[in-house]
Amino acid sequence: MKYQRILLKLSGEALAGDKKYGISTEVLQTIATEIQEVHKLGVQIGIVIGAGNIFRGVAASTEGMDRASSDYMGMLATCMNALALQDALEKKSVETRVQSAIKMDQISELYIRRKAIRHLEKNRIVIFAAGIGSPYFTTDTTAALRAMEIGADVLLKATRVKGVYDKDPEKHADAKFYEHLDYINILNQGLKVMDSTAVSLSMDHKLPMVVFNLHETGNISKIVHGEKVGTHIS
Ligand code: UDP
Repeated sequence: MKYQRILLKLSGEALAGDKKYGISTEVLQTIATEIQEVHKLGVQIGIVIGAGNIFRGVAASTEGMDRASSDYMGMLATCMNALALQDALEKKSVETRVQSAIKMDQISELYIRRKAIRHLEKNRIVIFAAGIGSPYFTTDTTAALRAMEIGADVLLKATRVKGVYDKDPEKHADAKFYEHLDYINILNQGLKVMDSTAVSLSMDHKLPMVVFNLHETGNISKIVHGEKVGTHIS
């Protein structure tokens, strides 16, 4: 196995499926099956989940809401997604723990790095909720941060397309696909992979990342086996 411990970043939108909003139970089950397959291989898995399917702080703040308040709402929305994913995984008998960066004793543990690592060592999937617990950040930055904190070998960022292109492949038929990229290229070319905070954090700490299509069955498993899937960023 090329990677023993991975941090998987799922956007909130991934859970919505065709509905564009909220959570599709069908999609959730498909994602849970994909994750279960990788878990069966003995790979330790941490997951950071977004909330774009429910609420995004930036969007609400452009409509006049206080940015910090709307970001806190975004973070709370990630907790709903985390619980939904936990439920889907546990229905498949995969043991999980949700660790939230905002204290919510009744529904999740508080994020404690050493405890998260212990769960991983015991083969429990750890779902990190509530971002990093601070406004003005994104779940991409959370994913980069948690990946480094738990000592993940790689950050896997799930998308709807094959990987990173020079422009949006859903709008431009001539978009060029990148098999490999350096973090600095993302910043210099302004490629829409992750926000610049997440990119520079990953670059500074040499965290490898793979951007891949979540909707192609078996992709996560192929990546952990070292197959060339998606765009590799280093
Ligand atoms: N958010 C935040 N701090 C964090 C992580 C997330 O304030 O550390 C808020 C922010 O408002 C963001 C929302 O939570 O818009 C949902 O996260 P994101 O937009 O990254 O979700 P995704 O695009 O991955 O679905």
